[in-house]
Amino acid sequence: MNYSHLDRPIQFLKGVGPKRADAFARLGITSARDLLYHAPRRYDDASSVESIGSLEVGMDATAIGRIRSKGVIPTRRGLRIFQAVLEDDSGMITVAWPGQPWLDRKLREGDTLLVSGRVKFFHGRQLQPREYIVLERGVGGESASSTDTELESGMVFVSYPASEDVPQWVLRSVFDKNLTEMLTWADDDEYVTPRMQAEHGLPRLAEAFKWLHRPKTIYEAEKARRRLAFDELFFLQLIQAQARRKATEDNPGIQHIRTNELIRPLHQALPFELTTAQGRALREIYNDMCSGRRMNRMLQGDVGTGKTAVAVFAMLLSVEGGRQACLMAPTEILAEQHARGVSRMLDPLGVEVTLLTGSLSVRSRRDALESISSGSARIVVGTHALIQEAVAFDELGIVVIDEQHRFGVKQRMAISDREGRIPDILVMSATPIPRSLAMALYGDLDLSLLDEMPPGRKPVTTSLRSTDHRTAVYEFVRSEIAMGRQAYIVYPLVDDSEKIDLLSAKREFERLSSEVFLEERVGLIHGQLASAEKDSVMREFITGKIDILVATTVIEVGIDVPNASVMLIEHAERFGLSQLHQLRGRVGRGTAESHCILVAEPGENALERLRIFRDTSDGFEVARADLQIRGQGDLFGSQQHGRDPALRFADLLLDEDLLVDAQSEARALVEEDPELERADHAAIQAHLEGLYKHRLAMFRVG
Ligand code: ADP
Ligand code: MG
Repeated sequence: MNYSHLDRPIQFLKGVGPKRADAFARLGITSARDLLYHAPRRYDDASSVESIGSLEVGMDATAIGRIRSKGVIPTRRGLRIFQAVLEDDSGMITVAWPGQPWLDRKLREGDTLLVSGRVKFFHGRQLQPREYIVLERGVGGESASSTDTELESGMVFVSYPASEDVPQWVLRSVFDKNLTEMLTWADDDEYVTPRMQAEHGLPRLAEAFKWLHRPKTIYEAEKARRRLAFDELFFLQLIQAQARRKATEDNPGIQHIRTNELIRPLHQALPFELTTAQGRALREIYNDMCSGRRMNRMLQGDVGTGKTAVAVFAMLLSVEGGRQACLMAPTEILAEQHARGVSRMLDPLGVEVTLLTGSLSVRSRRDALESISSGSARIVVGTHALIQEAVAFDELGIVVIDEQHRFGVKQRMAISDREGRIPDILVMSATPIPRSLAMALYGDLDLSLLDEMPPGRKPVTTSLRSTDHRTAVYEFVRSEIAMGRQAYIVYPLVDDSEKIDLLSAKREFERLSSEVFLEERVGLIHGQLASAEKDSVMREFITGKIDILVATTVIEVGIDVPNASVMLIEHAERFGLSQLHQLRGRVGRGTAESHCILVAEPGENALERLRIFRDTSDGFEVARADLQIRGQGDLFGSQQHGRDPALRFADLLLDEDLLVDAQSEARALVEEDPELERADHAAIQAHLEGLYKHRLAMFRVG
């Protein structure tokens, strides 16, 4: 790609220099392009900013003014209060920060501040800010422009994510000095054609950046966000469309032959009828499998919707047509669990299941590998790792991937048999996510949905208890165990933490086993244990040698212990709703009445969230609520910010329409020019190789 001014190192922008460049780098900004993409975290416009003269006691308001005087005031009770008098053209107000005397060193007379908070009465009007931002540095500062005039000209105030070393006013001043020039460079990155602009209502990139950083109205800022959101969704979909094309078109698929030789007997042997949803999913799968195209399908359904049964039918189609089938699970325990479940279904048909895990003896492992490569093993169940590394199938027709953890496109595409032939792929996911999110995450896959529970399942009773009820809750757990049941008790932390005051699994395990549950057998599992240790604790729980399993969320992964009837979750307010739903799915798997008990001392907001959860048993509804409340970060499994790093502008709930547009543009583009070789697609190719490559690498591919 040609050098673009957008690649200019941040150091060479006006007002930066080498020392500040280091500080910018720590904020993730190393080039002019990075700076343009550094999105404001907040906008305040004239309609939301009050003039100081108009502030009244009781208002919750945002105001902007210059510090006229300031100082630290001691109170009789020993509390030190930092106070400043803020002034604009309309008047003055005292702003006070109790207990933050150190602000005296950070704020200067002449600084322009944006403050938000409630106006109280205390020797006159006083505002105690929830939030404040230094918009401009006063005496000795760099920017001399007056904020008052900006307000009058109808500007919107932008505030950026800042840091100790790159404070708000530095960011604002660097933008002031460089934005106009940077906007002239933005065309270098433009790839959206005039047709796409018109069709999807998108501004040009240069316009979008102008509106992002210096909007005249909040509406302009929103239009800018939508454009940048489109870009994110488009490139995400483009990468997936390419993967999809590779997977389905480049590799001629297997045309499975359905004889019903095994499928019919399985229908007869099962003690139940398939649900309508299972039937529909199976038809979609059989269509794919019997066509000449390679299947790349995701089977999505809440815990207990019967995905495994569907998968077994799909595997039988492969087997009756003369090929092998395999099912991959993320852990040994889950592989063993699947092997048991699948064997139970297939025993009456006389079809054997070969289990392949790391804990097999050397000999049985060798035997298993031999029968897999000779083709005598028809159905193989094992862990992802083993099947990928060690196994040469004779003729593999289908791979079912139980995707508790995300399995990348590349990993999926790398599966083949001894001759390098690529099997059909069915990914099973128990994470119920809204369709828009599924499209975003799995744009390369076709989707089959199990949106219906088999009949007769008892719903899990969910209840909310405050911490003073803990003793009663323990009593309840004890009574369940006395009836022969088992229980999980889940904590948000493995270990005690100095930073947050939360109960931890290790500490509570000590207390529960030595003080509370003296008669009961208590075990402990958490993510710091080696996987062999985890497996052995899990086995003890599965076989009933442990009554109570104290745990962290490591057990949210598809474990099936039908005898467990209580899921007790401490500090429930610390968990996302989808996570709570996964945890709740660990009980209610047997015949017993089951209970999910949330212990929490939450504030009002959190309480509302937990009430929604208590009253909603449908995983998709829970996921939607979760997405609405917490943002999309957690659903993507990202630990940062609460937002996925690859989607900084897009919001999958708000932008479903954009996502649909982006997907159809991306798929059309890949149809037209699969390798993006045409000259007019050079900018898109450059984006993929540059900007999006590393952003998206952590996302899905690779
Ligand atoms: P999932 O993998 O989606 O969590 P499973 O496939 O493990 O669900 O099924 C959960 C339980 O429901 C299993 O015991 C299975 O035998 C049973 N099951 C599956 N399909 C049906 C059905 N159509 N009717 C009744 N029970 C079913
Ligand atoms: Mg299952």
